Amino acid sequence: MTELDRIKQNVYKANTDLVKKKLVIQSFGNVSERFNHQCIIKPSGIELNSTQYTSMVTVNIDDGKYKSPLKPSSDTPTHIELYKKFSDIQSIVHTHSIFATSWAQSGLAIPCVGTTHADYWSSDIPITRVLTKNEVENEYEKNTGIVIVETLLKLKIDVLTCPGILVNNHGVFAWGKSSEEALNNAELIEYISEMAYKTMMINPNTKPINKHLQKKHFNRKNGDEKYYGQN
Ligand SMILES: [Zn+2]
Repeated sequence: MTELDRIKQNVYKANTDLVKKKLVIQSFGNVSERFNHQCIIKPSGIELNSTQYTSMVTVNIDDGKYKSPLKPSSDTPTHIELYKKFSDIQSIVHTHSIFATSWAQSGLAIPCVGTTHADYWSSDIPITRVLTKNEVENEYEKNTGIVIVETLLKLKIDVLTCPGILVNNHGVFAWGKSSEEALNNAELIEYISEMAYKTMMINPNTKPINKHLQKKHFNRKNGDEKYYGQN
């Protein structure tokens, strides 16, 4: 099996796992993985059960061109903007998972109200600004990627310390060094979103955790100082 086939299999499996993990319903959502100067992504509006891994579409990151009988996901230009800007991102997952999307629809970043959040994000889970009328009417999906990049740069957030973001009014984009990791991060956003929502329901005056506790949890799982796990 070629490397390209192996990646197509990963992408196919990750897309089917999106449904199994209940992060999306029907044919919503998409997963892509970078392969050299290309990305491999789900075809647009396809029921995965009726197809196989060979149908995954290979798209050039530089110009968005593809050679395939099937069109790539309509969200491909969003993925491309992220791959272009951040070389550390190897895979991207997009979902409309319920709790995270509810935060996105509320227009609120997810505050760090517990250590589960701090284990994976060194900040709040950010939210983009709302797109302008012009940004929606022209190259909407590309502008969604641009606004994600803009948000991370403005907040001076490294993508390695922030494995996913909320897009205002819309949903979740998560990433990682593999499709498996990106999918786990999309699942974590949903889990953290649900806990944050329930925490705020129990006590609307809940404050974010202390910075020192947040830093401790993030650093013990990530970066040079990590000591959690077996390696
Ligand atoms: Zn979407």
